[in-house]
Amino acid sequence: MPFSKLGLSDKVLAAVQTAGYPNPTPIQEQAIPHVLARRDVLGIAQTGTGKTAAFVLPMLTMLEKGRARARMPRTLILEPTRELAAQVEESFEKYGKNHKLNVALIIGGVSFDDQDGKLMRGVDVLIATPGRLLDHSERGRLLMSGVELLVIDEADRMLDMGFIPDIERICKLVPFTRQTLFFTATMPAEIQRITEQFLHNPVRVEVSRPATTAAAILQQLVKTGREPHDKRDTLRRTIRAADSFKNAIIFCNRKREVAQLHRSLVRHGFNAVALHGDLDQSARTAALDAFRSGEAKLLIASDVAARGLDIPDVSHVFNFDVPHHADDYVHRIGRTGRAGKTGTAYTIVGPGDGRAVAEIEKLIGQSIPFADALPGDPAQADALAAPYDSASEPRRDDRGGRNKSRGGSRGGHRGPPREHHREAPRVEAPRAQDARHEPRPESPRQETRPDHRPEPREQRQTAPVARIDDARHRQAPARPREPAEPSGGDHLPAFLLRPIRGKA
Ligand code: AMP
Repeated sequence: MPFSKLGLSDKVLAAVQTAGYPNPTPIQEQAIPHVLARRDVLGIAQTGTGKTAAFVLPMLTMLEKGRARARMPRTLILEPTRELAAQVEESFEKYGKNHKLNVALIIGGVSFDDQDGKLMRGVDVLIATPGRLLDHSERGRLLMSGVELLVIDEADRMLDMGFIPDIERICKLVPFTRQTLFFTATMPAEIQRITEQFLHNPVRVEVSRPATTAAAILQQLVKTGREPHDKRDTLRRTIRAADSFKNAIIFCNRKREVAQLHRSLVRHGFNAVALHGDLDQSARTAALDAFRSGEAKLLIASDVAARGLDIPDVSHVFNFDVPHHADDYVHRIGRTGRAGKTGTAYTIVGPGDGRAVAEIEKLIGQSIPFADALPGDPAQADALAAPYDSASEPRRDDRGGRNKSRGGSRGGHRGPPREHHREAPRVEAPRAQDARHEPRPESPRQETRPDHRPEPREQRQTAPVARIDDARHRQAPARPREPAEPSGGDHLPAFLLRPIRGKA
């Protein structure tokens, strides 16, 4: 069915045409007519299915009638992370460029007063993370009694992040008669309960998991040793050996590992940025901008930080850790092989990961083969086993020399992309960037709000969220000293060695 048959306004259809979308995606085709008919919608869909436009386009159509009043937003969209909220705001800019609507972003980590000023001027679309929204509401700066339409996006991620109590509070602050659009990728019992409590006779719209897209993704396991430095070494060799490498997202299970791995990769001369919950907003934005623009080739991220980010055209995904939840594997590898392109997903598997891999294979209904031996695999290349004497600060001369001597060792293995075979000059790892990504304490007020509790799934493994936050802010984050790592295959393609200049 073409967009023109869905009931969208002419202005919205013009914006869709400008965006160049030939046809609605399944979630758009199924959801948009119901949204326009003012029905509650329960959408079971993941990012990458076009679900953002499935609610933004009909909202724009509906908002063409009526006007915003001071402090009383007409519509409210809840997102679990600041990045997702910012992404939805971008969608309103993109599709709503023919409209004169006031769109406000209410997220943590940015000025409260600026947000207050926007609310005062009247808001048609309020996009918010739950914690900061409740802050404004508790201070009496925001009235939710005028909300005609509520969108709860990525509800299962809200659950993971401990936001469900906040969502319940917000649902009670908006009028009972509002329309609700509820999106989730999965339906755990707690989400089921929320939908029964807060949706009124919803239309259920379900689009298939990206298991179909996975056909475009080459998935492989890569064997590694037990120690952390084994994994880092395996990762570096896997990156260097990757075919048709353009850029990659590297997933870790914990935000601390994200920071450690980032430092390690930068020290080894890789052009990498990191994204995790301890970074302040400007550092997150700078990291994402650097990766999206191609300035940085590697983005190291945790699941929570990367969830739902629209980063088109990623050639590779590396699972530095096998995810604890099989669902996360599907989300992670879905970052590549998008929009008709092919992609590759490598998962580094250590001796204790068997059960987690079996869970994944069960979920995706296929077994994932092991990759061929990589260049510099210690098991087969004794010549590469000599430890590097200063792994923490490789020098220009050292690196150049080693590159030369290793050139031949690639022999019969799969090499890096052809255009990158040229020897690269050694560039010092960008020190400033390291500093930019050091975790910075947030203000005490921010600590108390759930949208400033980054990565709770990671935190839950050790202690309640609040305590961890306290601990995080009491102790300066230790700069981990890595053991000298074996230096298998230090050949680096030139594009991975370019230093990155931070924008923030
Ligand atoms: P989402 O699932 O909302 O994160 O959307 C994923 C991507 O699909 C975004 O980059 C959108 O620009 C794109 N997109 C949304 N709707 C369509 C469509 N009808 N045709 C092609 N691409 C689309």
